[in-house]
Amino acid sequence: MTIESDKTAPHGTAPDEKALSAIRRAVAENFDAQTRFLADFVRIPSLRFEEGPAQDFIHDALRQRGYEVDDWTIALSDLEALPGFGPIEGDFSRARSVVGTHRPAQEKGRSLILQGHLDVVPAGPLEMWSDPPFDPVIRDGWMYGRGAGDMKSGTVAALFALDAIRRAGFEPAARVHFQSVIEEESTGLGALSTLQRGYRADLALIPEPSDMSLNRAQIGVLWFKLRVRGRPVHVASAGEGSNAIMAAYDVIRALKGLERDWNTRAGQDPVYGDVHHPLNFNAGKIAGGDWASSVPAWCDVDCRMGLLPGWDLARCRAEIEHCVAEAALGHPFLSNSPPEVVWNGFQAEGYVLEGAEEAEALLAESLGILRGAPVKVPEHKMTALTDSRFYGLYYGIPSFCFGPHAENIHGFDERVNLQSVQDVTEVLALFIARWCGLNPL
Ligand SMILES: [Zn+2]
Repeated sequence: MTIESDKTAPHGTAPDEKALSAIRRAVAENFDAQTRFLADFVRIPSLRFEEGPAQDFIHDALRQRGYEVDDWTIALSDLEALPGFGPIEGDFSRARSVVGTHRPAQEKGRSLILQGHLDVVPAGPLEMWSDPPFDPVIRDGWMYGRGAGDMKSGTVAALFALDAIRRAGFEPAARVHFQSVIEEESTGLGALSTLQRGYRADLALIPEPSDMSLNRAQIGVLWFKLRVRGRPVHVASAGEGSNAIMAAYDVIRALKGLERDWNTRAGQDPVYGDVHHPLNFNAGKIAGGDWASSVPAWCDVDCRMGLLPGWDLARCRAEIEHCVAEAALGHPFLSNSPPEVVWNGFQAEGYVLEGAEEAEALLAESLGILRGAPVKVPEHKMTALTDSRFYGLYYGIPSFCFGPHAENIHGFDERVNLQSVQDVTEVLALFIARWCGLNPL
């Protein structure tokens, strides 16, 4: 039996009932193993610049499954000239991307990129967690742990969706690249590196936690470091010195004003006009000073600012620099020692999904099979960003996210709902079967 999807048909050709129920059964039968695999993955603390062991874990899993594995060290010099590049601050020398490729015996369907990022954000103070963040526990149907939601459960769902197709006796009838990337939380350079390496497909699906909705749009993000420098003196003569920490607060206040202006402008936006306060400024990390009785001579603030799809990065950067310069103008000491704005990390444009009508229809049909009735996939306009922008904006590959239900991502007691993980695995397996078509093994 050969079941093909047809590129010319609006919704492809459906695999028969028997094949679909075999795939669904395979997901269910293998879900305990999938949950154990996910726990092992969460147990690896894949913080920024320390993702190596987690990449090894995925590399081994792909190799055991017989995928053609490409595992390479990312050279920044290869990426610097590409659109979407964001400068890195830190040791990037061990950064790797891992791609497992499935090549069917007979290629008939549409090709697919399935991508997950395994970098996780810092856990923060451990005493704020009910359980250690890298020792996952399952309670009341939820798995707790840093990265369980964002987004190791989605990555594992994609891997096990492919497993289910195989267990049911089929292979996707098109090329599938399973891409494990890093840096999603800070620059997106992992995703960019796979594109630089030459990986392409008809669609890129990223199972980020989305509560089983489709992200129609996402904002852009700029990261920058605000560097304030003063003149150190003893606190007894504080009037003669210049307190860099206090001055940094004045600049932060000015940037909050810019955030207000940008959100007012966003009210007129055709896509985000109906979203309340889509653009957020965040002073995310602050460091400064050396001693309680010394007037601090330095203060660094790591900042993040959102921007809308279609907004020009260079113009946004210029507005931020202008805002900081204005704040310094009338300031007692910043006027003589203007703060510096250093662009590092995300330099990301916003993205609105277009040209994926067939994929959207197949996703709706796959979700409908799970629910037992026709459904419309819920949609979401994100006030954050994902790696999908690179594919859609710069390489003409439509890209969207569809993933499980997670809570407290980037917070304490991050958790993912395991029923939603199983549901997403099933929907992904059905979607892959429809998008790529199936060959019998
Ligand atoms: Zn994520």
